[in-house]
Amino acid sequence: METRIEKNIDHAIKLLKTNQVVAIPTETVYGLAGNALHPETILKIYEVKQRPRFDPLIVHTDQLQKMEKFVEYIPDIIYKLAESFSPGPLTFVLPKTAAIPDLVTSGLASVAVRIPDHSKTLELLSQLDFPLAAPSANLFGQISPTKAKHVFHQLQNKIPLIIDGGECRVGIESTIVRYKNNQLEVLRLGGTTIDQLKRICKDIAVVTEQSEQIHAPGQLKSHYATRTPMIVGDIPQLLEQYKQKDCAVLSFSKSYTSGKKQIILSEKAELSEAAKKLFNAMHVLDSLQADIILTEEFPPVGLGLAINDRLRRASYREY
Ligand code: AMP
Ligand code: MG
Repeated sequence: METRIEKNIDHAIKLLKTNQVVAIPTETVYGLAGNALHPETILKIYEVKQRPRFDPLIVHTDQLQKMEKFVEYIPDIIYKLAESFSPGPLTFVLPKTAAIPDLVTSGLASVAVRIPDHSKTLELLSQLDFPLAAPSANLFGQISPTKAKHVFHQLQNKIPLIIDGGECRVGIESTIVRYKNNQLEVLRLGGTTIDQLKRICKDIAVVTEQSEQIHAPGQLKSHYATRTPMIVGDIPQLLEQYKQKDCAVLSFSKSYTSGKKQIILSEKAELSEAAKKLFNAMHVLDSLQADIILTEEFPPVGLGLAINDRLRRASYREY
């Protein structure tokens, strides 16, 4: 199957209406989208991604009201959060109705819902009478795509179309939250920061879930992985330790080597710039055939927490 890359959404609308899967741009990362109400299409998404079925998908819509059919209820605090952050990088886990196939949620009684903030995808959703299930448009376990060409690289010949919506503005997946026991549980750190959530959840505690049970397989330990082994630590010390190796370096704001294989994510030391560039930098460094990629902990505040989470998972394998 030839994979086309198009800026226009008309072809995508036709394909989605005939239950095909198409890669779509969002502000977080590119998604691999299909009709969320059609089980065979959902199966196709799992197949193309080689994603295990126990890993549920996020359902995308352009208006929270449209989701009312698909969820049992929406707590007030979720409405409030949606007012502040939707469209945007925040996903809500809510009790699902029978309208959402069990395949979408891997048999869970809840469904994850989000309104993505990208003009092309919002326009696309407004023209469809069904929501779109869309995990990130990468092969399972690999680096998420933030540009159309990243999707092409991983999924060419497996899908008919990629909508090119440019480079993703946020560049890191959505934050996933659930309201339970009068608390807002953060199931996955992402593009909406805990501080932002706390500003809205005034009398409701915002807690980071530490359960071992997989609610969000962004929580699987090895994920977002480069093929080149990645190590997180003190870069100068690691450069010394691995001086016999061909090392690539991924740093926040400082330069550590005069070598060519170095990417500094934000010379101004801005976490939002670093998050936006992170996955592209991982794609680029991974293509350089280095022996290892050395990187460091980012400041553990705001988006730095989500970046550290991704780096930790990307570097999980033993080296
Ligand atoms: P991805 O789109 O690949 O970033 O994956 C979407 C994330 O949403 C996965 O980590 C899912 O586990 C998570 N997710 C989807 N549905 C649910 C749900 N019902 N409860 C908790 N997490 C969910
Ligand atoms: Mg993913």
